[in-house]
Amino acid sequence: MLFAIWGVLVSLSFPVSATLDTATTAVPVSDTMPGTISENALHDFENAIFLNPQQTYRKLVTLAQSNDFSDEGKVWLLLRKAQTESVLTLYKEMDATLATVATFTNVMTNEQNALWLYLKGSRMHQTGDISGAIDTLKYAVEVAKEEPNSTIYVLAIRELGYGFALSGDYYRATLILQDAYKNLVILNNPFFNGLLEESLGDTYNYLGNYTKAIEYYEGALTFFESIGYQPHVASTLLGLAMVNRKLENWNDALSYFDRYEIALNFTNNHSENFYLHYGRAMTMAERGECNAAIGAIDDALGLSGPIDYNAELYKKRALCNLTLDNLAEAKQDLSKARTIFNGIEALHNTQWHLELDYIAGLVAFKDNRFEQAFEFIHRYYKDFLELQRLNNSEYVTQVQATMEAERKDKEIALLKQQTQLQAATAREQSLKVRQKNMMLVGVVVIFALLLIFVVFQYKNSRKLLALSIRDDLTGLHNRRYFFDYFEHNLVKLNPSHVGLALISFDIDNFKHINDNLGHHVGDEVIKTVAHTAANTLRTNDVIARIGGDEFIIALPRTTLLQAKEIAKRILENIRSHRFTTKEGADFSVTASLGVAYHHQNKLIALDVKSMMESADTALYQSKRAGKNRFTVAA
Ligand code: GH3
Ligand code: MG
Repeated sequence: MLFAIWGVLVSLSFPVSATLDTATTAVPVSDTMPGTISENALHDFENAIFLNPQQTYRKLVTLAQSNDFSDEGKVWLLLRKAQTESVLTLYKEMDATLATVATFTNVMTNEQNALWLYLKGSRMHQTGDISGAIDTLKYAVEVAKEEPNSTIYVLAIRELGYGFALSGDYYRATLILQDAYKNLVILNNPFFNGLLEESLGDTYNYLGNYTKAIEYYEGALTFFESIGYQPHVASTLLGLAMVNRKLENWNDALSYFDRYEIALNFTNNHSENFYLHYGRAMTMAERGECNAAIGAIDDALGLSGPIDYNAELYKKRALCNLTLDNLAEAKQDLSKARTIFNGIEALHNTQWHLELDYIAGLVAFKDNRFEQAFEFIHRYYKDFLELQRLNNSEYVTQVQATMEAERKDKEIALLKQQTQLQAATAREQSLKVRQKNMMLVGVVVIFALLLIFVVFQYKNSRKLLALSIRDDLTGLHNRRYFFDYFEHNLVKLNPSHVGLALISFDIDNFKHINDNLGHHVGDEVIKTVAHTAANTLRTNDVIARIGGDEFIIALPRTTLLQAKEIAKRILENIRSHRFTTKEGADFSVTASLGVAYHHQNKLIALDVKSMMESADTALYQSKRAGKNRFTVAA
């Protein structure tokens, strides 16, 4: 019977730490000016360590050669370097870096101290100093506890949980991990969620619930893949490989080892990865390929893995040698394994320690020492059952159940929190939409008002303009317009060459109509005469009412002859119109005209005043001569 090797999980848990805010964002790592990197950035380096360990490590090494840092900066630099060395399994370098950090203990900040202790503790796990690791990690937890929101606290407590599990203290392991979960899950950070799931996987792995362990490792894998933390992706794949090995799903185990190997590409020395060789060698041995397994075990032993792992390799080699009838080699292997276990007190009476008795029994049996064989095997089963009883006690079951329940509660709380957040976001969103709509409506309203205002203004100004240039009664232009038109338009038509005539005319005896037929009839007469005259004119001629019953006409580009013809026609058209009133009156009116003509040959000055005066004089002459005629000004 072959048992779990807890130790691998400790080494799997690469020292990890990440700032909550930067877990999924890039960390400012300067390429060009290593000496100028801010100490804050050094503090935040952890994200880069997991995203791109190899590249980050090169940068840290370069930075380490610079002297531009304060003591605090220097310590961060060294701690991050040690952390990266751990991720890259450069343990020799990591030990040297941690030793350098040790010379700074008097200037370390509390947080740095916690990280240092945590790294030291996890390194102790790897060297098999499990009780030392537990003590150091307990201290790390104490120190980290003083740092609000510190990730180191969570990580240290998690590592301490491994320590307890390694030494067979599953109660404390589950309890302390449970405590860590509370801190992890509430933060809802993909990295921490990954760690949480991975820890749960580890715990179930310890407790022998491999199906549940797989479930959690797969969850962890999804989280780590989502944030691209390759070292953690790798560690989870290794976890899955190991659990499948324990379930004797050899093919799955081997394919996870293959995936683990690929995931290890983040390191330069991935093909030399101890756990890969270890896992494959153990798998081969367990599935009975002992010849190949012994070679693979030797390869793994050649890579400096953790000492307790080496003990496992020796145990496995002993079993293989027994299978292959190499009794002497099996004895040697067993003795090597025993020596290692003797040196690690924390592992005494653990499952893998007990297995030594089992193997010793098999060796004794092969050696025909049957009584001894029986004793060894008997002792093994007795101790093993006692251990099983302890591990499966009601208490552990209870702790497991509480852990599951609590986790569900947290998930529900988290879900609730998320729902509330979503609701708040939705509310905010709809408020924004409403605000936007209101603004839009506002803009439209303002625009519409503006448009109305502009149209109103335009109409008003048109009206004002019309009022200012039109005569109300007749709709003809008024005196002001005529003067304007004369000065701005008519004079530009070169009247000296093309001729310009003004005709001034006035209705004859108009007062008489007003007096006898009423003012309203007078108005009608003014209107009719105005339109009759206007209809007699050519397109470009201009007529205006000067006031009362008096009108003025401009005839541009006109010969004197044409002007006379038009004057004659106006007279005729006015004269020929018959007026009838409601009261039964039937009459016609006449008008008197005065014509002023400007041309180079006709020396009436080209200004409106002179020309109108001339026309008026001529009109007056017409009146004096008996009305109903026109006179051309001299
Ligand atoms: P003459 O032949 O010499 O022109 O004599 P007349 O009666 O036409 O006299 P005159 O041209 O001097 O008189 C114009 C009269 O027109 C004076 C005024 O009472 C009247 N009148 C002025 N404006 C209006 C108007 O808008 N409507 C009406 N019904 N009468 C007006
Ligand atoms: Mg008149």
